[in-house]
Amino acid sequence: MTQEQRAEDQVKSGSILVVGGGISGLTATLEAAEVGYEVFLVEKNPYLGGRVAQLRYYFPKLCPPTCGLEINFKRIKDNPRIKYFTLAEVLSVSGGPGNYDVTIKLNPRYVNEKCTCCGECAKASTTEVANDFNFGMDMTKGAYLPHQMAFPMRYVLSPKVVGTDDAKRCLEACEYDAIDLDMQPKSMNLKVGAIIWATGWKPYDASKITNLGFQYKNVITNMMMERLAAPNGPTGGKILRPSDNKEISTIAFVQCAGSRDENHLPYCSYICCMASLKQTTYVRELYPEAKVYIFYIDVRAPGQRYEKFYKKIKADENVFLIKGKVAEVREDPNSKDITVVAENAVTGERIEQTVDMAVLATGMEPSVAGTKLPGNVRVDPDGFVISDLAQGGMFATGCAAKPLDVVSSNQHATGMALKAIQTLVNR
Ligand SMILES: Cc1cc2nc3c(=O)[nH]c(=O)nc-3n(C[C@H](O)[C@H](O)[C@H](O)COP(=O)(O)OP(=O)(O)OC[C@H]3O[C@@H](n4cnc5c(N)ncnc54)[C@H](O)[C@@H]3O)c2cc1C
Ligand code: SF4
Ligand code: SF4
Repeated sequence: MTQEQRAEDQVKSGSILVVGGGISGLTATLEAAEVGYEVFLVEKNPYLGGRVAQLRYYFPKLCPPTCGLEINFKRIKDNPRIKYFTLAEVLSVSGGPGNYDVTIKLNPRYVNEKCTCCGECAKASTTEVANDFNFGMDMTKGAYLPHQMAFPMRYVLSPKVVGTDDAKRCLEACEYDAIDLDMQPKSMNLKVGAIIWATGWKPYDASKITNLGFQYKNVITNMMMERLAAPNGPTGGKILRPSDNKEISTIAFVQCAGSRDENHLPYCSYICCMASLKQTTYVRELYPEAKVYIFYIDVRAPGQRYEKFYKKIKADENVFLIKGKVAEVREDPNSKDITVVAENAVTGERIEQTVDMAVLATGMEPSVAGTKLPGNVRVDPDGFVISDLAQGGMFATGCAAKPLDVVSSNQHATGMALKAIQTLVNR
């Protein structure tokens, strides 16, 4: 057997498991599959796309998430080497590099591939369930489409209604035989040569930051802001303050909310300065008279493009960047206005700025923090997954590995796809 034949034989025998269908997992999947490897992509949500799907726009170009995601979904659909599973999770992993046995749990969607997205089941449902996609700021029905650009484009029944009369109402309303209330959880065994953990991040729990006022209605997180500004969000894209649905004229951003703080996340979350600068553009476009106050410790806008973005926002006369750590956020019980209290680190003066609404620039925590991944996957003290670069086989990418933006996640995922391929061909 020639060296080439041996290499070809080895190429054909390996497959890769990617856990997490956000932008990093999608990229790793596509990069590996498009050079000829079989890839299994496992996503716990009923849709692919991860957190990027929840953004209004994404920088630096400020395009809607559909631009990047839809092309990836098309490439996934068109590639026979990719098998993707939603509502799925990894139960166990055994074996070693080049030869892992993996068990996947597939949770029931209760809706099959005959679904045409006609929406009749949602009309028939009388149950209301908090909408996780919009961070509970509105409700969905017991039968729902996770969001307007969901992939796969298919309804799902909330487990909360299964076994109730509401589920029967949904079943009766469906003319396409697409609802199957007998679906059960299933498990599936896979043999793979390498595993890429692309499990991403979750917003840091703002209720743990006791001095920043998250208990008040008009104090929201930056991810809630993305949904408020989105046309398919709870307010149809208007940034309205939650207590009275008033259009805002003043807003404050509180940077490093929970990040760079030994009591919460000790690291810099990398992206939240840029996120607030981006969200400033949402406010300024919608409400040309609005004033924006950004309280920061340092503004981190890494690289040439982000620095340019920062400078543009800084030049806006309605945007006030105040260097000072926020000590307190309080509410006026009558007007529900919010006052942000900080010490200006440049002038030393105490500032009390009253605004309609405040946004906490909460950081990124690894989504698996506090849980144990199967297969002796190693994590660092903050919960980020560590790639085994010495032995190969197990890799972490995107925000599962460290806080990153989309561009860097894509680059990182491409690198990790290559590392996974190297495990397969060298085993
Ligand atoms: C407020 C805010 C605004 C932002 N705006 C921008 C921006 O404009 N531009 C930009 O470049 N970046 C932005 N970012 C950063 C961007 O969101 C991340 O770079 C991006 O989400 C990273 O993608 P990911 O795939 O690594 O993680 P995620 O998007 O978190 O995707 C991970 C996926 O894995 C799934 N998953 C998790 N655990 C499991 C499991 N155990 N089993 C199976 N599946 C699992 C999740 O459901 C999810 O679908 C912003 C971040 C914040 C906080
Ligand atoms: S499950 Fe049936 S009723 Fe519901 S959207 Fe799909 S096809 Fe329509
Ligand atoms: S990116 Fe900015 S707001 Fe976020 S933790 Fe770092 S310095 Fe703080």
